[in-house]
Amino acid sequence: MFLKRFFPVLLVLLFVGGVVVWRQPQSVDRVSRTALIMGTVVDIQAYGDDEKQLSRAVDAAFGEMTRLERLLSRHIPESDISRLSEAVGGIELSSETVGLLEMGQKVSRQSSGAFDMTLGAVKKLWNIEGENPRIPTAAELSEALAGTGPSALTIAGNKVTKTRPEVAVDLGGIAKGYAVDRAVNVLAQAGVASATVNAGGDIRLLGGKKGEPWRIGIQHPRQADGLLVTLRLQDRAVVTSGDYERFFEQNGQRYHHIFDPATGKPARQCQSVTVVAAGAAHADALATAAFVLGPVAGLNLLEGLPDVEGLIVGADGRLFKTSGLPE
Ligand code: ADP
Ligand code: MG
Repeated sequence: MFLKRFFPVLLVLLFVGGVVVWRQPQSVDRVSRTALIMGTVVDIQAYGDDEKQLSRAVDAAFGEMTRLERLLSRHIPESDISRLSEAVGGIELSSETVGLLEMGQKVSRQSSGAFDMTLGAVKKLWNIEGENPRIPTAAELSEALAGTGPSALTIAGNKVTKTRPEVAVDLGGIAKGYAVDRAVNVLAQAGVASATVNAGGDIRLLGGKKGEPWRIGIQHPRQADGLLVTLRLQDRAVVTSGDYERFFEQNGQRYHHIFDPATGKPARQCQSVTVVAAGAAHADALATAAFVLGPVAGLNLLEGLPDVEGLIVGADGRLFKTSGLPE
């Protein structure tokens, strides 16, 4: 009975569906793909009309990010960063890793040590991203902080030396941004003129979208589906660090994954920081730094840098913006 009544409708639907399926390969305007890299969902969208070219470019971009994961991840024992963390004396690393460490050191100095790549032991103690996160004791924290800080790593050529063998290096605050930069580079080299790469909130835009700037909605840190602002951007990186994605709660307190190097505890002055800059690695490190510094000193840091804009949500939900934010 049902079928009989609706058969003509069904036929029409099937036909229209068939047409859509048949036409799609010809009228492709983008290739969109996701992969899990560096513990994060990475989304790449490349726009253009040559599906084969786009597809090959996107594959190459993911390949590049996977290569960097092997170089920089603390979870991979042979990575440069694991070898550095285990090293007792000085160790020769790839010039690429050294270049990234140097960029991080610069942000570390600019932020009076708020950005700190030597918090590997602190991160391990809290285990925020693991199965059983917990609040460490004061004694554990002070041991994990021993020897950390902006002068904990000495770089000479490609040789990196730690002040103390126990210091563990962690590039969680900059590596994803760097991988995004490299992915965009690979896309551009493959002839793609318009693309977005998003690694869990570390975004970089290649070109614009059909000649117009992209509209990038910035997530509200306390409203799951809410937006703080929409930014209009092209050829920029826009990176957000927040306390709302990786955290656990105990006795009504939120313990998240961005640590204040002064205490070894989660930084308390912000809910989120968004940084707009030319490169995603730089923006990534700055977002983490400003998050630790808090709205006033953080905004001051961002405002003082050329070609950098930002948006900070303080712990009380108040909004702070740099003067040139492209809303
Ligand atoms: P997300 O990883 O969510 O994008 P961030 O870019 O702010 O957020 O990076 C947070 C990660 O950076 C932490 O998981 C940790 O690996 C590392 N980290 C934590 N505190 C600091 C800090 N003060 N300076 C540099 N890196 C940090
Ligand atoms: Mg960061």
